[in-house]
Amino acid sequence: MSVDHSEALAALVGMSTGFPTVALDLVNEPMIRHWAEAMGDTNPVYFDAVAGVTAGLGGIVAPPTMLQAWSMVGLTGTLKRESSRGEKKDLENANDTMMRLLDEEGLTSVVATNCEQEYDRPLRPGERIAMRATIETISDVKKTGLGVGRFTTSLSEFFSVDESFPSDPSLRDAALAKAERVGTMRFRILKFAPQASAPAKPPRPKPALTQDNAFFFEGLNEGKLLIQRCTACATLRHPPLPACGKCESLEWDTIESKGSGEIYSFVVVHYPQVPSFDYPLPIALVALDEGTRIVANVSIDPEHIAIGQRVIARIETFDNDLSLPVFDLDTGA
Ligand SMILES: [Zn+2]
Repeated sequence: MSVDHSEALAALVGMSTGFPTVALDLVNEPMIRHWAEAMGDTNPVYFDAVAGVTAGLGGIVAPPTMLQAWSMVGLTGTLKRESSRGEKKDLENANDTMMRLLDEEGLTSVVATNCEQEYDRPLRPGERIAMRATIETISDVKKTGLGVGRFTTSLSEFFSVDESFPSDPSLRDAALAKAERVGTMRFRILKFAPQASAPAKPPRPKPALTQDNAFFFEGLNEGKLLIQRCTACATLRHPPLPACGKCESLEWDTIESKGSGEIYSFVVVHYPQVPSFDYPLPIALVALDEGTRIVANVSIDPEHIAIGQRVIARIETFDNDLSLPVFDLDTGA
């Protein structure tokens, strides 16, 4: 770490991350029902007042784990805040400052490590929830499996307040001193320096060159897609072989293919994965217009590759020394 903000970070510990907030909605039955349905929680005390009374809860209650949900600002609130932060740095709260300082230290990645909630009592429909968040701890720089970083813990405290709770944010801290606390949440994150990126891909496996196939790879190095032709019967063949499969002649020469053709068949390889390649990996059997077939890589989206597609070859060089044909969709352009 070239920059060390330890002192500035230490000064933030104990600071609230902004003025206390008030929940947009009172604790209410529809949100409780939606939450319970989404979580698959069928406990009747969340739906049925009689069940709540029977359980000694006085009626319907909110699932305890909804604690933080009541105080969330929603998508529009988040977007509004992010856009204003971009325009005005003086709107930066202590949490923003902490994150900025950590970014400046090079600790630019973030992962949530744990969350602990404590519930003082159940919440009931009609209650108004206010929340205050404080930076509780910022650790020294630690070595972790993800890289060097600092753990930070924020403490959110949740209160039940009534309609007299001030709308003026600057008066809310004083009001919370007299309010009933209903729960807390400690949220810990690790801000860390991402490790150097993964090692470069290993090179592709090299073809074994033989006296039969060397012409093919040498041709590619010169920018030509060469196909073997029997000089006795003119039958084309690929992959290269010493003798003609039709007339058994050992005499041959080559033609230069135009590289145009259509997809005769294909596979999209998912496994097993060789580190030199990207997956899913489409591989096609292309019927060249000259009349033989060739297996090659294709640069067509695996979702959209199809038999019968017109394709055209280009020669791509991999790892600086391996030239291979790659087929693109032939758009006729
Ligand atoms: Zn032949």
